[in-house]
Amino acid sequence: MFRTNTCGELRLADAGKTVTLAGWVQRVRKMGGMTFVDLRDRYGITQLVFNEEVNDALCARANKLGREDVIQIKGEVNERESKNKNLPTGEIEIIVSELTVLNASATPPFTIEDNTDGGDDIRMKYRYLDLRRACVRKNLELRHQMTMEVRRYLDSKGFLEIETPMLIGSTPEGARDFVVPSRMNPGQFYALPQSPQTLKQLLMVAGMDRYFQIVKCFRDEDLRADRQPEFTQIDCEMSFVEQEDVIALFEGMAKHLFRTIRGIELTEPFPRMPWSEAMRLYGSDKPDTRFGMEFVELMDVLKGTGEFSVFNDASYIGGICAPGCASYTRKQLDQLTDFVKRSQIGAKGLVYARVQEDGSVKSSVDKFYTQEVLLRLKETMKAVPGDLILIMSGEDVMKTRKQLCELRLEMGSRLGLRDKNKFSLLWVVDFPMFEWSEEEGRLMAMHHPFTHPKDEDIPLLDSNPAAVRADAYDMVCNGVEVGGGSIRIHDPELQDKMFKILGFTEERAQEQFGFLMNAFKYGAPPHGGLAYGLDRWVSLFAGLDSIRDCIAFPKNNSGRDVMLDAPSYIDQKQLDELNLALDLKD
Ligand code: ASP
Repeated sequence: MFRTNTCGELRLADAGKTVTLAGWVQRVRKMGGMTFVDLRDRYGITQLVFNEEVNDALCARANKLGREDVIQIKGEVNERESKNKNLPTGEIEIIVSELTVLNASATPPFTIEDNTDGGDDIRMKYRYLDLRRACVRKNLELRHQMTMEVRRYLDSKGFLEIETPMLIGSTPEGARDFVVPSRMNPGQFYALPQSPQTLKQLLMVAGMDRYFQIVKCFRDEDLRADRQPEFTQIDCEMSFVEQEDVIALFEGMAKHLFRTIRGIELTEPFPRMPWSEAMRLYGSDKPDTRFGMEFVELMDVLKGTGEFSVFNDASYIGGICAPGCASYTRKQLDQLTDFVKRSQIGAKGLVYARVQEDGSVKSSVDKFYTQEVLLRLKETMKAVPGDLILIMSGEDVMKTRKQLCELRLEMGSRLGLRDKNKFSLLWVVDFPMFEWSEEEGRLMAMHHPFTHPKDEDIPLLDSNPAAVRADAYDMVCNGVEVGGGSIRIHDPELQDKMFKILGFTEERAQEQFGFLMNAFKYGAPPHGGLAYGLDRWVSLFAGLDSIRDCIAFPKNNSGRDVMLDAPSYIDQKQLDELNLALDLKD
């Protein structure tokens, strides 16, 4: 047998047993005539002991071991004199009698321990070494457990796991596609799926009824902490359902994951919030509801009631009330002002008002307003002595709300209200069907073009499409969109109309979505579904700031895999074969 036990397994009850272990040398310590080696594998660390007095030659060999050498040892389990309470195997050690070096290691570029000395770049370049660290390995173990639970839950509800192709046709709308040239079809390209959306809908036409797939999706977008060019979705679709059915089933799945993975029993139904309400109260379609600090609109109180032209010209004035922050120093307030003025947020400034101990209000715009107006401000904000009122305004309502949202999140973080071990879930519902795209100069589907409008809003499609709401829903947890979906259009005529509103000519709609429209002619059942972001779920449960840490081999912010050094140039021969006439190196 190569090994009788793993390095995380042996306990005091095993004392006296002869065992064989294999693993990596984490550390060698020499103390007097004794040498201690920490042996590591996926399961843990076991201490090995070599005694010079017992076996001089063996001990000399142990002293020569280097970090990350792969070794196999045979020895006897012994009760430790000084026990290590922090280690599950901390009560025992192995008195080694045989040592085989299976493979010596070059000196690793950083220490393979939780507190490593390696920076981000070097750890990504040597990700296979980074993955040996217990803190990183744990994220992949969690990911595995979560996918197992997802499969268990969906299987118990009658879902079929069905694979859909990775090489598909390019679909417009949504993000940019990654494309793959076809050698056998010169000049033509496949696209990698941004999601299996149309394919899962075709599976519903095929009568599969309940489908899921844990699937890679590809979007060529600018990257952020919670975005990777390839990411994994738990993609689902169901037939003969209404919005309530989909929500119930997938709320059940979220609860199942919380129960089995985190031991948290979520008994109440998740709150629902219409999109318009989320925007009004939080300036976001994915509000972090772990804390309050909701927006209060102040147009009535501050517009036209003083000489402050910024407010008098504004289309939106909103405030948040930061409890206990009236004591903020000038420096702290300047920091907040700088925060909202950063280019990522882009606000012009920040107005503040402190509620003093005596109930009076002292603000940065005192010279423009009477104390009476400021007291009305205090009242409207429901502020009490000690509170700090922060106010932002602007000419673009949505833009200003988004800026105020950033400030609210920042204040939530500063006040320690965004505890990673507290979870606040909700459904955001009634999304608008369309949003105006400045770039394209036309309406775009907010979710995607296959989303069903709310029945009662269908008459508005002709008269006022911007006011049409969709049967679309997002699940939000702690300010992160963890999933989203919609009821789909299954009527070819309605789908046709949708494409028209989105600015497709009949020919283009036919060219790009003909396969779907055609399929809908053959008895498409009413259907709907949702996709959960697996990476986001795992990072949420692991308490990570970035989804990168729960992905085995992630890409960096420029979309590069620094370990594989991809993307890379390809040979002219390969380019020629693919009928790609360009030579990018010139
Ligand atoms: N395909 C959609 C997405 O990727 C989710 C869905 O509607 O099921 O966002």
